[in-house]
Amino acid sequence: MRMIFPQGEGNGMPIRDGGAARLLIDGRLEEAERTFGSSDPATGEVLGEAPDATVADAGRAVAAARRAFDETGWATDRDLRVRCLEQFHRALVEHQEELRDLLIAEAGAPRMLTHGAQLDEPLDLVSYYASLLRDHPLTEDLGYAEYQGQRHHRWVEKEAAGVVAAITPYNFPVQLALVKLAPALAAGCTVVLKGAPDTPLVTLALGRLLAEHTDVPAGVVNVLTSSRVEVGAALTTHPEVDVVSFTGSSATGRGILSAAGGTIKRVRLELGGKSALIMLDDADLRAVSMNAAFGICLHAGQACALNSRLLVPRARHDEVVERVARYLGKVAYGDPRDPKTYMGPLISERQREKVDGMVRRAVDEGAKLVTGGEKVDPGFFYTPTLLSGVDPDSEIAQEEVFGPVLAVIPYDGEDDAVRIANNSAYGLSGAVYGADDERCLAIARRIRTGTYSVNGGNYFFSDTPFGGFKQSGIGREKGVSGLEDFLEIKTFGVVAPA
Ligand code: NAD
Repeated sequence: MRMIFPQGEGNGMPIRDGGAARLLIDGRLEEAERTFGSSDPATGEVLGEAPDATVADAGRAVAAARRAFDETGWATDRDLRVRCLEQFHRALVEHQEELRDLLIAEAGAPRMLTHGAQLDEPLDLVSYYASLLRDHPLTEDLGYAEYQGQRHHRWVEKEAAGVVAAITPYNFPVQLALVKLAPALAAGCTVVLKGAPDTPLVTLALGRLLAEHTDVPAGVVNVLTSSRVEVGAALTTHPEVDVVSFTGSSATGRGILSAAGGTIKRVRLELGGKSALIMLDDADLRAVSMNAAFGICLHAGQACALNSRLLVPRARHDEVVERVARYLGKVAYGDPRDPKTYMGPLISERQREKVDGMVRRAVDEGAKLVTGGEKVDPGFFYTPTLLSGVDPDSEIAQEEVFGPVLAVIPYDGEDDAVRIANNSAYGLSGAVYGADDERCLAIARRIRTGTYSVNGGNYFFSDTPFGGFKQSGIGREKGVSGLEDFLEIKTFGVVAPA
């Protein structure tokens, strides 16, 4: 098997050399004039250098994607696209262990999590879209209609939406790249993927696999990494980009929506969340407490759909807090390479400072720090943190923390629980626990959010749509809707022969 990451001397880490970390522009793997360092958040040590693309590089990538879209058969050759997606899937599987090592090192993803949502599960997205594409109807016959004495045949054809700028965050760098790349390529779009500056090496590895192991024509996929915000920003205003598919913070998403408005791009946004887990009065205390505690520590809280608010009946507040604190104390955190580690580090010192600042301000606003709230060195670790008696209008209950910090909020009656859950600018996810599924579902239907779990039910698969209400985003990824988001609808009318 060919190695995509030549190993560094002695430390076994991927390094930048002639082939390790290069941009992909117009089918060529390229160095950049400058590089920037990528580091291991579990140790703070530099892992390697990544090419620091410029706005001019972004322009070349968009030109290549435009040319590939307009001048090759990519957008119309369904068989070629199925074949390329299957090749890409095979390459990902062949190099899965190298990708795993890189994800662990660069994103601080615990090995355990790479066997789920960080790596093993998202690879399935590529084969899912390859098989969906084989059979998905791209036409819809609307039949005949009479108009001014003639019969008119009407139908719809769906075609690729064009050049896509795919911009991703750091927290699940493989999953969030594949959830855009796979459906965009299936639809016949061409793509410029710009990864997050905190996780460039793993993003570039995807480009290299596409370039070296698939028949994807030059320019169809371009991959950029950069330390400069202007590079992503340039993609969102470039007149030759048709679609912006962005995952990241709501603050950045807001800016992108207005930047892309100048050229009326199709904008798909997957943004932040502040989801609420509602514990009903007859819920199983153990199930709720375990789910809340281990849930908030998944990837050290750096996941958009986590339930970071726990809503409990006021009468049960103290017993829930005591039990959740006990489970938080059992969360194994530390070296993400250790298979027994459940929680790794935060991505950077900057993120750790942000999380710590929010915890301090929550206490200033009246919440009680039950456990956690400590930085652990070396690396950017932050201990599992529980805040009780939280005011639903306070910053910690309203703003996304992106750290292992759970806010417990007491409520008085079901209507109050629903009101507090909906008291948020976000609407990404949520959960309810109770003895009766029907009662739980009645609550779930009142929450304005894009995904919902009842009594621990999982809604997160390749074929299940994912996305947000309100300021959590626009559009849906995964499933059939993920493909439809990269298609345009063209409607035909032809006068039928008399
Ligand atoms: P971020 O918004 O800081 O950055 C995301 C990406 O946008 C990066 O590649 C960044 O370089 C780029 N970017 C920054 N400014 C830009 C600009 N002006 N124009 C174009 N691109 C720009 O997010 P982050 O800190 O990397 O990730 C964390 C955020 O992502 C959290 O808010 C989280 O909720 C969100 N997220 C959402 C989902 C979802 O599916 N809804 C999934 C994962 C993460």
